[in-house]
Amino acid sequence: MKLSFAKPATGQAPLLSFEFFPPKDEKAAEQLLETAEALSEFAPDFVSITYGAGGGTRSRTLEYTKRLSNQFGFRVLPHLTCVGHTREELIEIIHDFKAAGCTQIMALRGDAPKGATEFEQHPGGFRYASDLVRLIREVYPECTIGVGGYPEGHPEAPDLKTDLENLKIKVDAGADFITTQLFYDNADYFRFVEACRAKGIHIPIVPGLMSILSRAQAKRFCKLCGAAIPQALDEALAAAEANGDPVENVGVDWTLAQLKALLKAGIPGVHLYILNRSAPAQRLLNMLRESDEGAAFLKTHPCQS
Ligand SMILES: Cc1cc2nc3c(=O)[nH]c(=O)nc-3n(C[C@H](O)[C@H](O)[C@H](O)COP(=O)(O)OP(=O)(O)OC[C@H]3O[C@@H](n4cnc5c(N)ncnc54)[C@H](O)[C@@H]3O)c2cc1C
Repeated sequence: MKLSFAKPATGQAPLLSFEFFPPKDEKAAEQLLETAEALSEFAPDFVSITYGAGGGTRSRTLEYTKRLSNQFGFRVLPHLTCVGHTREELIEIIHDFKAAGCTQIMALRGDAPKGATEFEQHPGGFRYASDLVRLIREVYPECTIGVGGYPEGHPEAPDLKTDLENLKIKVDAGADFITTQLFYDNADYFRFVEACRAKGIHIPIVPGLMSILSRAQAKRFCKLCGAAIPQALDEALAAAEANGDPVENVGVDWTLAQLKALLKAGIPGVHLYILNRSAPAQRLLNMLRESDEGAAFLKTHPCQS
């Protein structure tokens, strides 16, 4: 069955999803499973599992796709990237995901593997995510395909307009929905949605949100993905750091304010980048439940606390 995101004026609640990454060792695996267990109380509509750039990710993404599905009953959206794969290998992986029961795949180009500075096309593989979208459509036509979108522009794109033209190519290749890169100013998301609609992109655009857990980590992530940290947020993080207060709480409060405003504006879903940690997402969703916007949304995602 296709993923069905909320449409404006239908009364359907927005979908809730969490993003995991495959663990690198036993300790990290334990943390992922504990997080999955803890967050299952919110009955997410789906969870996603990323695809890393290094070797070994193919089996780990598949393994955790199966575990998250079999152990917790989650509907899983595995990510797939073009990095280091031939067309034939990508076909095999798509078939593996299909055999694992996945009816949805997130199609990405991927970033440079560790040690490299730029994305490099495999001689037998693809240059852009749109090529992967076309391939998935060809070999698994009924699959729901997600793609990435960049409210502040992809860091390699010369400008927002060109990036949007490239996004249109990716959507026309057969994408069903867009999940955005993280952003901390809702105005960037609203502008992006408006620009997409004006360009003729009419598929759901799901905001991706990540609560800041540490100021240094946020600066690193944002530099990599080209997202800005608003001055007010940065000042609040710096003040918490200086006073020895939990920086995480500042991050969650900011995400809460973002999410309330997004829900009010009518979004198709929300995708939370949780970094395999349960506590910030639990705090966020429990606080959201106390608000009018959150109560309606979380009715379909009941929590037991
Ligand atoms: C929701 C989400 C999930 C992600 N998950 C992962 C993951 O699991 N693993 C991982 O390694 N990375 C992941 N990433 C990061 C992603 O791989 C990087 O942002 C990567 O740099 C671009 O991927 P893309 O799929 O957006 O690429 P593309 O859509 O191919 O775009 C890459 C660049 O090429 C340009 N471009 C695209 N098409 C054309 C064209 N036809 N002609 C000229 N230029 C073009 C674009 O403007 C852009 O600058 C994720 C990103 C998002 C937003």
